[in-house]
Amino acid sequence: MENIKLASLKTKQKTFIKVGDITVGKDFVVIAGPCSVESEEQTLHTARAVKEAGAHMIRGGAFKPRTSPYKFQGLGLKGIKILEKAREETGLPVVTEVMDPRDVAWMCEYVDVLQVGARNMQNFSLLKEVGKSKHPVLLKRGMYSTFKEWLSCAEYILNEGNPHVILCERGIRTFETYSRNTLDLSAVPAIKELSHLPIIVDPAHATGKTSLIPSMCLAAVASGADGLILEVHSQPEKALSDKNQTLTPQMFSRMAQNLFSLREFMKKMN
Ligand code: PEP
Ligand code: MN
Repeated sequence: MENIKLASLKTKQKTFIKVGDITVGKDFVVIAGPCSVESEEQTLHTARAVKEAGAHMIRGGAFKPRTSPYKFQGLGLKGIKILEKAREETGLPVVTEVMDPRDVAWMCEYVDVLQVGARNMQNFSLLKEVGKSKHPVLLKRGMYSTFKEWLSCAEYILNEGNPHVILCERGIRTFETYSRNTLDLSAVPAIKELSHLPIIVDPAHATGKTSLIPSMCLAAVASGADGLILEVHSQPEKALSDKNQTLTPQMFSRMAQNLFSLREFMKKMN
């Protein structure tokens, strides 16, 4: 693929990224937590529940890329400090979205993985800045992006000297309206044919519907994904963002058991 150099499978066999006790690319990683950090109580409650259910990292947005300026924009620094507390209490590394290049340096002091969201996938100033940071980056696929465009964005980060890039398939826009997006699971084997970077799947933003999530999670595991990212809230109906795709801790726990069983079964197959 033209101009995919550092991200290409021709350059390297596999990228492993150590985050806390887990090595992304080697161990199957489950990241879970609320779409948005709303309060300390909500975040800590969810963090404890997802840890108990076997999650390896906690997610939560403090800077939210909302379609409307009138919707909840996130708690900013206050939210980041709540996430820091959640990590202190549970030991789970924190994944959170960074939207502004000016926020990269200070956010690295607080969080373990910087998420670049779908809407910012081609924000080249942001990509260069996270590339300079050397912090692990979760790079989501833009909703209209080809694999080549996505890998070119990873290339920006790698080219700044940061090799710690995790890709995340989160669904693309198609003519379908029943689901929020269309989960393109072919991204998993396709990216593995093209690149050494680990790839995880986000069935929540891909489907927008909790009823579709359990089967898409199992399908993602079966496709060979390196992990999953999911939205969990103690009271999804009260969530300030993405409530229709948010699981209760009970739903998450049940699903996590099935995922880990399928993963074990697949290990035996290989
Ligand atoms: C999110 O993870 O909450 C999010 C906004 O995701 P995406 O960028 O994939 O829409
Ligand atoms: Mn969300």
